[in-house]
Amino acid sequence: MENNKKVILDVKDLQTYFLTDAGVVKAVDGVSFSVREGETIGIVGESGSGKSVTNLSIMKLIPSPPGKIVGGEVIFEDQNILDLSEKELREIRGDKISMIFQDPMTSLNPFLKISTQMIETIRLHNKNVSKEEAREKSIKVLEDVGIPAARERIDSYPHQFSGGMRQRVMIAIALSCNAKVLIADEPTTALDVTIQAQILELIQSISKKYGTSVILITHDLGVVAGMCDEVCVMYAGRIVEKALTDDLYKKPLHPYTEGLIKSVPRMDTSGSKEKLFSIEGQPPNVIDLPPCCPFHPRCHKAMEECKHAYPPRKVFDGHEVSCWLYATDEEKNAVLKSIGSTEENDK
Ligand code: SF4
Repeated sequence: MENNKKVILDVKDLQTYFLTDAGVVKAVDGVSFSVREGETIGIVGESGSGKSVTNLSIMKLIPSPPGKIVGGEVIFEDQNILDLSEKELREIRGDKISMIFQDPMTSLNPFLKISTQMIETIRLHNKNVSKEEAREKSIKVLEDVGIPAARERIDSYPHQFSGGMRQRVMIAIALSCNAKVLIADEPTTALDVTIQAQILELIQSISKKYGTSVILITHDLGVVAGMCDEVCVMYAGRIVEKALTDDLYKKPLHPYTEGLIKSVPRMDTSGSKEKLFSIEGQPPNVIDLPPCCPFHPRCHKAMEECKHAYPPRKVFDGHEVSCWLYATDEEKNAVLKSIGSTEENDK
């Protein structure tokens, strides 16, 4: 079904490399996806898959050196964020695109009251707002994100809040600036399970109420299930499969996605003595990766061509997928021919 919602953020062929003494780490290598108004997109993958670097690149927050955005575009409101100056970027960061991280203490200043931090943020992005107005707005959004007795608690310091409450404060700060896009990088990993569910529900309800688009970064496909409209699965710096969430769960095409879905614990089999599935092996070392499918040492469907060339991207059953299983015989044979294999397909 065609999606008529407006694209608000368009990431095109993004490439971010880290130039290290040991070699070039292609942390993000040709990543493309679009975020639509009011929708939530999930970016899923193991540690080191490039999901967080993708989102830091969107905000141009890559430490340089050793990092460098070497290619691609991030189009937001008809301009390429990657071309903007630091001053122009400050207008966008926190104001139009906000980020919340795993540990809110990394973003909150421990020495300043929540009220000071919120009022300053609001006034930084809107000089016409008085201190009193900014304070009232802060209290309103703190109430919106479920901080009890917000009028009194606004003058507390971050350490006087629990981890879950601090995460709510971060979401409130994003809302106070009317952010159009909220990037949530593993926002619940450091929290208790019950609090995790509350924070995810909060992000979802905020997105609905304010029409905020959300990019949710997580290693957990279970988190994505109830929350995201679309999912990008990343492996070794690239998106290996992208599909609407329901389609991805019903029929994963890439063997890695299949493995990730099988690894999610299921309520309906919780009594079973069967061992929980896990993908064997470790993610690859991404320094100077050879041109092959980097998943092949862990893939139970690997073929000869997988070891010699990166698979072409295909659109198949509404999914975008990069896997040799969906390539044409001509494409596979071209690889086999180039390596002189005697096992060409369809001879
Ligand atoms: Fe497995 Fe080959 Fe597909 Fe890679 S390209 S996921 S190794 S089948």
